[in-house]
Amino acid sequence: MNRHILLQVEGLKKYFPIGGGIFRKPRHFVKAIDGITLSISRGEIFGLVGESGCGKTTIGRCIIRLEEPTEGRIIFDGKEIGGLSRGQMRSLRRDMQMIFQDPYSSLNPRKTVGRIISEAYGVHGLYSREERKERMEELVGLVGLRPEHIYRYPYEFSGGQRQRICVARAIALNPKLVVADEPVSALDVSIQAQILNLLVDLQARLSLTYLFISHDLSVVRHICDRVAVMYLGRIVEQAGRNGLFSRPLHPYTQGLLSAVPKPDPFSPRKGRKIRGEVASQIFPPGGCPFHPRCPDAISICSETRPELTEVEPGHWTACHRLKRGHLF
Ligand code: SF4
Repeated sequence: MNRHILLQVEGLKKYFPIGGGIFRKPRHFVKAIDGITLSISRGEIFGLVGESGCGKTTIGRCIIRLEEPTEGRIIFDGKEIGGLSRGQMRSLRRDMQMIFQDPYSSLNPRKTVGRIISEAYGVHGLYSREERKERMEELVGLVGLRPEHIYRYPYEFSGGQRQRICVARAIALNPKLVVADEPVSALDVSIQAQILNLLVDLQARLSLTYLFISHDLSVVRHICDRVAVMYLGRIVEQAGRNGLFSRPLHPYTQGLLSAVPKPDPFSPRKGRKIRGEVASQIFPPGGCPFHPRCPDAISICSETRPELTEVEPGHWTACHRLKRGHLF
């Protein structure tokens, strides 16, 4: 494995059973992730974007091992994490942290900020009492809070300040990878930019790598180096930020971009709308899963699933009509 790659995901699937019971097989499966392959380099901010229910959050949860994948490999820092014991996984958890969407429910209201941030030190047996206090004060300073805030409770803070506390907790153990799952979507627009700038600042200072999950293309554009667009549990387009936003190739990405309030002035196909609703994850359409909604669909689209293919250097799409970066 390339030593610059921190995280590699190969053929990841996560199916949730529905129906069935203790003695009966599940009747169906929700295919939340249906064969994802991606890699993230050290120091990179990799964006995962798509409509709600496309499986992006499930990928983050599988990587952190909050969910057990149905199939596929996750290789982190050179180690495949699928076969690790609980003890090995605990030490690996120091290197992987998650920031959740809702800063209101993800903080224990009965604990002070200091206890919330330093909880992991107890779990991992790190630092003396004095050192922990110093470290807590350093961490709150890094996220733009004051030292006295470590004695206060979450309810005493605004939404933006609570997300700063969540960020401090996530970086407390000096992780290598932070999975940020919609970290600003629960915040006022005026606060969102402050938290995004904080994340970028910390990434540079602490050499962090982010998997940044969002439904909001404008947020992803602000922060990410590379972006993957997901539809029904699969990646349909992946490219560097400039390539994706200046020249979206997949009809789904073009549709998503046309829904952004300020249309991209550089997009060659702005104004395209996606028709219809997201299809069922239990019974996804055959062929290209996007074909019932696609304005460019041709007959092969309902029969054969397109593979993710590199159509320009570093620019990958899964579409039958895209060869060498052009619709034909
Ligand atoms: Fe549209 Fe066909 Fe391309 Fe799917 S493969 S995005 S249906 S043109």
